[in-house]
Amino acid sequence: RKPHPLYDVHERNDVYFSIKSTEKYHESRLHLLALTWFQTVHPHNLHIVTDTEDTTTELLRDFGYTVHIAGCPKGHTHQPMACKCGVEFEQFYIAKENGSHYNWYCHLDDDMYLNVLALFELLDTLNPLDSHYLGQRSINRRIDIREDFKRKNNILRDSYYFATGAIYCISTPLMEQLEYYLRGKEKMMRYSGAAGVPDDMLIGLIIEGILGYNLTEVSTMNSHLFPLKRISTTDLVKQITISYGSWNINGKEIKNIISIEDDLFDDNEDPTRFLSYHCLLHPSTRWCHSNEKT
Ligand code: UDP
Ligand code: MN
Repeated sequence: RKPHPLYDVHERNDVYFSIKSTEKYHESRLHLLALTWFQTVHPHNLHIVTDTEDTTTELLRDFGYTVHIAGCPKGHTHQPMACKCGVEFEQFYIAKENGSHYNWYCHLDDDMYLNVLALFELLDTLNPLDSHYLGQRSINRRIDIREDFKRKNNILRDSYYFATGAIYCISTPLMEQLEYYLRGKEKMMRYSGAAGVPDDMLIGLIIEGILGYNLTEVSTMNSHLFPLKRISTTDLVKQITISYGSWNINGKEIKNIISIEDDLFDDNEDPTRFLSYHCLLHPSTRWCHSNEKT
């Protein structure tokens, strides 16, 4: 295997990573991330927001990552999710108040693999002193803002685009403008309830509708909402994020995973393909050699 030309990563220190997880995914999802891409960023810059303490959170802390217990209501509905997102934002502001100098805030769900080198390459092309909102649309049209919400708030626009919540990055100057609306559980839940939208749409609504900035579409920020098999072999290394999931089509389960040629891990050993992808990007990883599998 030839090393990826950009291999080596730990240097960059200006991106704050916030990972959202939940109790039931500690074992199945967080462990996989801890084994792979978490190891390619400086542990100090990686924050995990989840529900409960257990052996996984202990392990993550041992690795040097910060784990925050959100203390939010349970569930995947608007209010609990907005609550947890509010905690994620709040922790970023707290880190800044404690003297950390971040240019970027990037959020990821716990079923996302981040190719940090591809992300850093993109960020290198942007001025972090400007207001940037980076992500990929899952809904390809402008979303109308509810009339009563428009009336009660100072709204510039009638509609907005939003980045799907699995991955998005926001520059610090824009994060500072969002603080008034989105810092902490109470605010995020209040605005999400008032606008009648989940957290990711709310972020788009505030950034585009109230503050007047535009989402910059980044087509390489994939989630499992997009068909991952379509990414060509040569384009794989250029992706900023990949994910995995499945679709139920006429009662048949269709797996949505990247297609990657690999002689080390087959689909059974690596159902998400994250291990194979990690070895493609970071071939010098110890367990990426056939005699030292995980
Ligand atoms: N999640 C959560 N609480 C829940 C369910 C999910 O915080 O009750 C988190 C989960 O850890 C992940 C994100 O929300 O980071 C999205 O969850 P999932 O991938 O299961 O659903 P999706 O929205 O992608 O279909
Ligand atoms: Mn998901």
